[in-house]
Amino acid sequence: MIVVMQEGATEGQVAHVVKLIRELGLAEHVIKGTERTVIAALGDDRAKNKENLENVPGVEKVMPVLAPYKMASKEVKKERTVVKLGGTLGASVGGKKVCVIAGPCSVEGREQLLRCAEEVKAAGATALRGGAFKPRTSPYAFQGMGEKGLEILAEAREKTGLAVVTEVMAVDQVELVCKYADVLQVGARNMQNYNLLWKVGEQQKPVLLKRGLSATLEEFLLAAEYIMSRGNPNVILCERGIRSFEKYCRNTLPLAIVPEVHRISHLPIVVDPSQGTGHAHLVPDMCKAAVAAGADGLIIEAHDDPEHALTDGAQSITPGTLQEMMAVLKRIAVAVEREV
Ligand code: PEP
Ligand code: MN
Repeated sequence: MIVVMQEGATEGQVAHVVKLIRELGLAEHVIKGTERTVIAALGDDRAKNKENLENVPGVEKVMPVLAPYKMASKEVKKERTVVKLGGTLGASVGGKKVCVIAGPCSVEGREQLLRCAEEVKAAGATALRGGAFKPRTSPYAFQGMGEKGLEILAEAREKTGLAVVTEVMAVDQVELVCKYADVLQVGARNMQNYNLLWKVGEQQKPVLLKRGLSATLEEFLLAAEYIMSRGNPNVILCERGIRSFEKYCRNTLPLAIVPEVHRISHLPIVVDPSQGTGHAHLVPDMCKAAVAAGADGLIIEAHDDPEHALTDGAQSITPGTLQEMMAVLKRIAVAVEREV
């Protein structure tokens, strides 16, 4: 970090700051300018209470230099992380191939899910999504099928080879969901549920971490750091749109996060244009834009009867639309040196 002293700060104040920097276990390098003194504190200060220095007499401001996250940052690992999802179709996120994860918002029943799994596989998806535990805004809305839904997802994997991505909402569900799922989805509403992040960090299964509704990129990467710091390096970030003043879509989908994540982190990032827009008619174009922007994967809500879907019918595309869109995505991927 850099500590900038106020104009006219006394020698005594500078000496006091130097003492505090040493107390933090860091070394100081004092630079006396013509107008003010600047002190560089050398060493890893991520775990230090450096904010307190702002409250010290004579200090103007404290500027961190290192990112507050470590394991998630490119400073620590230069090569991109590739996360293998499971299943038998070679699904992975972060390599040259853009991974397509598709399926209904929720598991609604056995026939529906098995049919949908076959359809998304035929369209080219290598992983299946579907919630068995649903975080609903209203307590009266359909909450998901629970363990029965997980059993159906596992059966779909047996039949199709698709990797299964499904949400875990609570610490006490983690073991159960691990029994059936290939990838543990942590939903937007749980991005800052630190106990849950720790618990999924202790598992062997990859984690798809959704960005919180109003989380900054820094908070998002710190949430990934929670998981990684418990021993699980297989974190996939997921941009699912953030809350804004805008009304024409359910959320605002900031695709600039894709190249920015690639600039500062080695973790792969997938885009969810379904929660990201809330409208099926916007989903294909945002999928195309996401691939063009360099996304490592897409997670898409697809339902063969959106009119009767129990959750998120308005934003679910049909398997037919998915298939048509995949043909275009393949061409876009080639243009950006990827594959779909
Ligand atoms: C979902 O994927 O259906 C979902 C609930 O996502 P999010 O946590 O992004 O709202
Ligand atoms: Mn949904």
